[in-house]
Amino acid sequence: MLFAHFDDPVTHPSHQEAWQLVERINQGDKLTYEEFRFLIAHLHASQLPHLQALAVQKRKAVYGDQLFIRGLMEISNICHQDCYYCGIRASNRQVARYAYRYEELSAMINRAYDKGYRTIVMQGGENEHFEHRQFCTFLRNITQQYPNLIITLSLGQKSKESYQDYYDAGARRYLLRHESADATHYAKLHPPKQTLASRMECLTNLKAIGFQTGAGFMVGSPYQTSANLAHDLLFLQDFQPHMVGIGPYMHHPDTPFHDASDGRLEHVLACYALARLIVPQALLPSTTATSSLHPQGRLRALQSGCNVIMINLSPEEQRTQYSLYHNKTYKGDESDEYLSLIADDVAKAGMEICMQQGNHSAYIESKIIKE
Ligand code: SF4
Repeated sequence: MLFAHFDDPVTHPSHQEAWQLVERINQGDKLTYEEFRFLIAHLHASQLPHLQALAVQKRKAVYGDQLFIRGLMEISNICHQDCYYCGIRASNRQVARYAYRYEELSAMINRAYDKGYRTIVMQGGENEHFEHRQFCTFLRNITQQYPNLIITLSLGQKSKESYQDYYDAGARRYLLRHESADATHYAKLHPPKQTLASRMECLTNLKAIGFQTGAGFMVGSPYQTSANLAHDLLFLQDFQPHMVGIGPYMHHPDTPFHDASDGRLEHVLACYALARLIVPQALLPSTTATSSLHPQGRLRALQSGCNVIMINLSPEEQRTQYSLYHNKTYKGDESDEYLSLIADDVAKAGMEICMQQGNHSAYIESKIIKE
């Protein structure tokens, strides 16, 4: 069972061997799949604080104490895909579907810019509601109006040409979580028409085009084993994404997985810390799912190497309709009105809020993006 040993006492030298693997990653060594599998199978709960401390050290070495704030706009909950775990999957007829009009999106962006946001994340289900050319024109207008605003898109799988059009229109980051890097596990979470191969192709295309590219996965999703997680960590090591989105699996009552248990916080924290060591330069958000899972989720994520928080800019009445999972933090701390409350956790984590673009360090160094 996944991470079952977290409940066992430290009785075996294998825990020490697992720690040696952590130290090797920390020194920049690459691990094999078998080594990742061993590490996950033998890391002990008592080692988690040490792992978190290493991750914080690494984050400080690369990014200092800055916590980058992104403004999140959930632009539509219409989706033609049917991921078994997702509350807004096409088959869920309980959802009131919405999509913002362009003038509403522009108003939200103008307001966010005036408040100091320099990264906007536009997230939505996979759909054709936004006609491609019109959407690209909208993007181009925004990026011309605000040359120092970074637009991040998270709109699912598209053709390489569509991604290129987004890039040409000025978008510079794209988030596409892979959810599971093990094809057999991926197939248990998605209908047959959605394949891991097509998702990986999208990620490869995004990176080749020049996007700061985000991948990531759920922790504790149905059927997940430590072998599956080893694939995820190996993938992070090989692909070196610029952003890594990790969060617990959270069940939703109107999905085929409605009675599956939610992921566990310690497992998510361990994955954050390992991700920080495996991809030191990654922009690593403390995800909303982690805050929804546990009242201290966000603080503990920051204490595990995370350095990004997304603030929901969508109007409150719309947030409830973007229900990817049960108990999502709709109007809690992670909405625009509560930025000051987040400051409390940020201070406790010894970090400071940064509203600037907060690019991946490789992009700053190469001056691909002017801040
Ligand atoms: S996870 Fe994304 S692609 Fe899958 S059903 Fe939900 S919104 Fe659609």
